[in-house]
Amino acid sequence: MRYISTRHGSQGNPEPLGFEDVMLAGLARDGGLYLPADWPHFAKAEIAALKGLPYVEVAYRVMRPFVGDTFDEATFRRLIGEAYASFDAPDVLPLKPLGDTGLHLLELFHGPTLAFKDVALQLLGRMLDRKLTERHQHATIVGATSGDTGSAAIEAVRDRKTIDIFMLFPRGRVSEVQRRQMTTVLAPNVHNVVVDGTFDDCQDLAKACFNDLAFRDRHALTAVNSINFARVMAQIVYYFWAAVRLGAPDRPVAFTVPTGNFGNVYAGYAAQRMGLPISHFVVATNSNDILARFFETGAMTMAGVVPTYSPSMDIQISSNFERLLFDLYGRDGRALAEAMATFRSTGTLKVGANALGGVRELFDAGRLDEPGTLAAIADCRKRFGETLDPHTAVGYAVAQQHRRDDKVPMVVLSTAHPAKFPDAVQKATGERPALPQRLADLMDRTERVDGLRNDIAALKDLIDQRMATAAPSRALRR
Ligand SMILES: *Cc1c(COP(=O)(O)O)cnc(C)c1O
Repeated sequence: MRYISTRHGSQGNPEPLGFEDVMLAGLARDGGLYLPADWPHFAKAEIAALKGLPYVEVAYRVMRPFVGDTFDEATFRRLIGEAYASFDAPDVLPLKPLGDTGLHLLELFHGPTLAFKDVALQLLGRMLDRKLTERHQHATIVGATSGDTGSAAIEAVRDRKTIDIFMLFPRGRVSEVQRRQMTTVLAPNVHNVVVDGTFDDCQDLAKACFNDLAFRDRHALTAVNSINFARVMAQIVYYFWAAVRLGAPDRPVAFTVPTGNFGNVYAGYAAQRMGLPISHFVVATNSNDILARFFETGAMTMAGVVPTYSPSMDIQISSNFERLLFDLYGRDGRALAEAMATFRSTGTLKVGANALGGVRELFDAGRLDEPGTLAAIADCRKRFGETLDPHTAVGYAVAQQHRRDDKVPMVVLSTAHPAKFPDAVQKATGERPALPQRLADLMDRTERVDGLRNDIAALKDLIDQRMATAAPSRALRR
């Protein structure tokens, strides 16, 4: 399988890349995002054959075409098996019906950090480590987090000799559970950095590291945020997993996805392109509704971000949306690069009526405000005895406004454990959800974190210093 950039052709015509390079690079050099030049296709019989298989086997079969010869069969199976052994639900990602409504919750949060990001990052961490080990190389991950990505990435690479990770987060802006999930990991290759600034400041600092090419090459910087195609790949699996349990390929299934960066729902779109019969998607946003507005009007217009109960969806620009836009622009990388440049400078991007019509056949969108989020948590608890986290609650409420056909099962992706957002859940239900066993002592663990002023020179100094003394990695090439 070969991969191209969403902006291919905009800066010459680079050769398409294989999976290994795409995984190690993260972002394309022309500023675009990688995706397969052609989607692999699953025939009806191949989809039917997934029924009844364990999650790891479904994962192997769905992902195999994407990785090509990057890993041999035995190695790839082992990495998948180890990644999902870290989940503490017997069938990895449980699917639960909500009474006889035809609504189902797909619980993606039974991994080590209690949010769906573990599904992709537990595998990506292992794939990176394996490749770097084979290549006798070391890589340095620099990232910014507003909460869930940071802990999932740290947990995925802790104690690895081939990788150091620097995770920046804004002082006072992440919840205590989220902070402690990062700062209590005392592994020598994990460097938590609390910045006197906002999340945007953190992201600007991380970006500035990547934009300094000498610095980038010196430390072999790599990105594991949701633009890395390997994360999309790992998320495609659970659309197949859920759909075949609900009757695919013989009947269609709908999905509702609480979304921020459009990574999760884009993986569903990919599954549909691969032949999975998905009737439609419901894109569910909180008050930060740039995506809902796009699907209603065809115009994407930047607005300020307001903080909500569902902070992982408090996003102004959905980075993965560029992958869908690539198709809306007829897979013309040059035209898309121009449109993205206009969006950056004017704050608006508009697609034509034809493209919008096509996309609306497949995508509905809706939003839920703050009182609605608390009401949805309370409602689901009362009707079905299930306690939702605030992100999932947005999906649960918006899904019910967008059932197109009551006979088509509707899967709501459940993206976080309620104990990760105890304040909102307590406000909605009057009860504080308990952390699962493996994190029960989180509040008593020792924390380690470096403080940093919002200053790029200070960050680079910190990374240079740490990497000069990082003993295990010194033997490996950068
Ligand atoms: C990251 C996250 C989301 C948003 O996922 P995207 O792929 O950015 O759309 C939703 N819910 C939770 C709990 C998350 O951590």
